Formats: sequence, structure tokens, C-alpha cells
Amino acid sequence: MNSKTTLVTGGAGFIGSHLCAVLVGKGYRVICVDNLLTGSRSNIHQLEQNERFRFIEHDVTNELRSTMNDVRTIDFIYHLASPASPVQYQNHPLETLHVNSIGTENMLKLAQETGASFLYTSTSEVYGNPLEHPQKETYWGNVNSYGPRSCYDEAKRFGEALVYTYTHHYRVNARMVRIFNTYGPHMEKDDGRVVSNFVNQALDNQPITIHGDGNQTRSFCYVSDMVEGIVRAMETEHTSSEIINLGNTDERSIDEIADLIIKLSGSRSEKEYKELPPDDPVRRQPDISKAKELLKWEPKISLEEGLTKTIEYFKQMANSQ
Ligand code: NAD
Ligand code: UDP
Repeated sequence: MNSKTTLVTGGAGFIGSHLCAVLVGKGYRVICVDNLLTGSRSNIHQLEQNERFRFIEHDVTNELRSTMNDVRTIDFIYHLASPASPVQYQNHPLETLHVNSIGTENMLKLAQETGASFLYTSTSEVYGNPLEHPQKETYWGNVNSYGPRSCYDEAKRFGEALVYTYTHHYRVNARMVRIFNTYGPHMEKDDGRVVSNFVNQALDNQPITIHGDGNQTRSFCYVSDMVEGIVRAMETEHTSSEIINLGNTDERSIDEIADLIIKLSGSRSEKEYKELPPDDPVRRQPDISKAKELLKWEPKISLEEGLTKTIEYFKQMANSQ
């Protein structure tokens, strides 16, 4: 049995709750810290029955010591806390700026004090509307610093600079992953991301709201694959100071995603084309050769399989209400 302690910030959110479950399953003691801004206690309801799991309601822009006094015993810190959906981070722009800057620095300081290994979840958004395709870790990006998405994109870029600084100047054992679009159970029904929107619209036989002409592309990774990649990035030797893209390379247009969800859910929904939001990236696909080589990781779940599981989850959620 593993006796190490892991702290997961944002652990009541979509990806964080799956990560907590995997870590508890691996025998870690898991402390989940979340202020429930965009996450939900229902995501960790079952985990709360497990004695190796502990939930602390706390805003990581404040020092953790103010809520928890036994911080010395932490071995690993996975720092996920941050709104991730464009609708959510645009509803909470200051919270997003602060959690990725002040919150990230608080967690890095905690790693420095405790000697814990640290992982930051950055994002493909640091590449902005990319002029290089697919995107490699070495690409510097094409990001608007002054627009509706900049509270997220620039906050994550600042978070990356903090990780660089604490790694290179303060010897913290830290790495970061750049996560590309991820989907699956525990997404909030109304958080505005494309997969949760389309699946719930399809299940209700409501119009599928496509932004623009739907020709913009994304590459979608199922959450269990993502969590496996995140854990490997932490646990694999010699990943300190590395930046690693994590995502699925299966690039599809948003129009194609709509058709697939309508088909897989047996929906009668029609597609409705709406205005494209400003600064919406045109294309996005990860180059994951570094993750393949360094972590021996690549996604296993196909889009069709992952969407089927996600549709089933939202169906069950609707039936249980
Ligand atoms: P989510 O919104 O479901 O989860 C984020 C969690 O962080 C929520 O539970 C929220 O309550 C919590 N949180 C926010 N501010 C906090 C604060 N100040 N203190 C404590 N907790 C706070 O988002 P997610 O999709 O699970 O994303 C998790 C991480 O992965 C984020 O850092 C996000 O930027 C990154 N990421 C996600 C995706 C994706 O497609 N899901 C893509 C790129 C990057
Ligand atoms: N999108 C859409 N309809 C929706 C929600 C999103 O067409 O109801 C589009 C959005 O404009 C973007 C893509 O789907 O082009 C992915 O959006 P999401 O918000 O999931 O994540 P992003 O990759 O933009 O951060």
C-alpha cells in the first residue's frame, strides 16, 4: 500500500475528480482542495466515503495554512484549480487571472517548503489561434493579450512562467502539461463547453448550437486517457522542468462533432448556426510525440467510444433528477 500524500487543487472539478479517484485507487492519501467555483461536491460524493480521501473547501489564492495546519506531509501537488470552460472563465475573469497567478505561486511555494513534486495543468490555449499545425511544445503561440479569452490564456502563460522560475531559480521539482480539449463524465451540464452543450441539446432534441460555420477544428481526448497522462507526467522519472502536450490527435470539425453526437444519441435535433465568438481558434491539434517518447503514453479511447460513454452519463444524470 502506498503511504504517500497527494494534494489535488481543483479536485472537485471535471478532470480533478477523476484524477482524485485514480490516485485513491493507486493507494495514495488524497487531499482535494477546491472552492467549488466551477466544480461540484457531487463529483466527489463517492470518494468522500473513502478514508484515504479528504475534501477541504478552500480558495487557493489564500495560503493553504489558513485552512489546513498539517501541510508538511505533502509529497505531490497536482495544481488543476482554474475555470476551464470559455463561458466560465469569461464569467469569472478575475478569479481566473488570480487562481493561475496567485494560486499557482501559493502552490509552488508550498512545493518548495515541503519538497513535494509539483505538476501544473496548463493548456493548449497558450498556443492561441495557432499559426503552426499541429502544435508542438516548442511553438510560442499566437495569443491575443487583450480580449475576451486573454484572462485565461495570459493567466496560464503567466502560470507557466512561474513554474519556470520556481524550477530554475528555486529548485522546485515541477513539470507542466498542456492539456488539449478533454471531455467525459463530470463535465457540468451547463458549463458551455462544446461536448456537454451538444450532448445535452441532443438528448433534449433541442437545436445544436454551432458557432460560425462549424469548420473550426478541435481534437478531443477522453478524460480517462487524460488522467493517465497526467499521472504519468508526475510519476515518470526525469520529467522535472519539462512541458508536455497531452491530448488526442484525432482532429475533427465542430460540424462533424455535432453530426456524430446526433447519430450516437439517436436525436431528432437540427443544427443551428450562430455567431462565432471573437478570438475562437480556427484549428487545434496536439503533437504528442514528446508524451509518447517520454511517458510511453498515448490515448486509447476513440471519439465514438468516449462520446457514447459521455451520452450515457448525461442520460443517467437526467433520469436521476
Ligand atoms: P473545471 O472547471 O471542471 O475544474 C476546475 C476546478 O477548480 C473546479 O472544481 C473549481 O471549483 C476549482 N477552482 C477554481 N478556482 C479555484 C480556487 N481559487 N481555489 C480552489 N479551487 C478552485 O475544469 P477542468 O476541465 O476540470 O480543468 C482542470 C484544469 O485543467 C484547469 O486548470 C484547466 O485550465 C485545465 N485544462 C482543462 C482542459 C479541458 O479540456 N477540460 C483543457 C486545457 C486545460
Ligand atoms: N462551440 C460551438 N457550440 C457550442 C459551444 C462551443 O460551436 O455550443 C464551439 C466553440 O466556438 C469552439 C469549439 O466549439 O469553436 C470548442 O469550444 P469549447 O468552448 O468547448 O472549447 P475551446 O476549445 O474553444 O476552449
